[in-house]
Amino acid sequence: MVHLLHSDTTNLRRLEQNTVSVIQAGPISAERDDALAKLPLILQTSLDTRQLLRLFDEQIKPLLAHNGLQFTHPDNKFEFRLGNNRHHKCNYQLEIDQEYLGQLTFSRAYRFSDNEIRLLEDLLCKLIYPLRNSLQYARALDAALTDTLTQLPNRQAYKNTIEREIDLAHRLRLPLSLLVLDIDYFKNINDSFGHQVGDETLCRVADTLLASLRRSDALFRIGGEEFAIVLSHSHHEAALLAAERLRTAIYELNQSNTDQKFPISISIGLAELCVGESADSLFLKADEALYQAKFAGRNQVVTSRVTA
Ligand code: GH3
Ligand code: MG
Ligand code: MG
Repeated sequence: MVHLLHSDTTNLRRLEQNTVSVIQAGPISAERDDALAKLPLILQTSLDTRQLLRLFDEQIKPLLAHNGLQFTHPDNKFEFRLGNNRHHKCNYQLEIDQEYLGQLTFSRAYRFSDNEIRLLEDLLCKLIYPLRNSLQYARALDAALTDTLTQLPNRQAYKNTIEREIDLAHRLRLPLSLLVLDIDYFKNINDSFGHQVGDETLCRVADTLLASLRRSDALFRIGGEEFAIVLSHSHHEAALLAAERLRTAIYELNQSNTDQKFPISISIGLAELCVGESADSLFLKADEALYQAKFAGRNQVVTSRVTA
């Protein structure tokens, strides 16, 4: 069952002034029927929501004049706009079988006629199933890149991000640093207090790290009790400050939480990207520095001295 909850937010006073406004002649009916019949096939060609909406906009433009199209994702993950916003709007809440798919708004400088609204609704019925598929696909992709325990991006997400960021850093000659960090004596926490407490500790550490980072820094859970942080646009000096801030934030959990029966600390290895360096080489440098931090007594930051 498809629901299109329509609200025309046209301002009434304006509408009266515009009663003689142009209602563009639509294409002749055979052409229109043909375009309507082809639309589902064309919309099947993309599973990417933005691309799908671009295709839809392109295909319906000759059938229904409009200046702007705006889509708001159901989880507010993104807002997608095409064209320009105008005063007269047709606004739809899209829903299939009680699954809310988002809000779609069309706008233009003069009002939509009843016939046009009917046509628009026919067109939306062709969009709604491909739109649901594209949203489901995006959710599946998201899930494949998310760690289920901490909800942080996972190792695969790290690999995708580091390749992309290194490529950008090399092309634009920007600095980039990587932190690899590991919870100290985590096995003792599991052994002494159980796996459940171990899991809670992992989540608390993840939340604390996230709260201590800048928005532009990307945090990943790359293994059991190991995390990686990509600090784009950061030289070693800035990365060292960030790493010390993170180490202290985790160590301070011991003081701030009176229920906690055990100390938590992390060791951190830091490496800065060198000219032409690969993701694997950068990771090895940071991981080697982490090993040294463990060896030197844990709860500390060590910087890699290797210059690729
Ligand atoms: P070190 O200071 O040298 O890092 O010592 P450690 O005890 O932290 O390191 P070790 O590699 O000996 O142990 C890591 C432990 O992390 C072992 C493993 O069972 C536990 N672990 C890995 N993933 C999870 C998880 O998702 N939940 C819980 N509770 N434990 C996990
Ligand atoms: Mg550990
Ligand atoms: Mg480890």
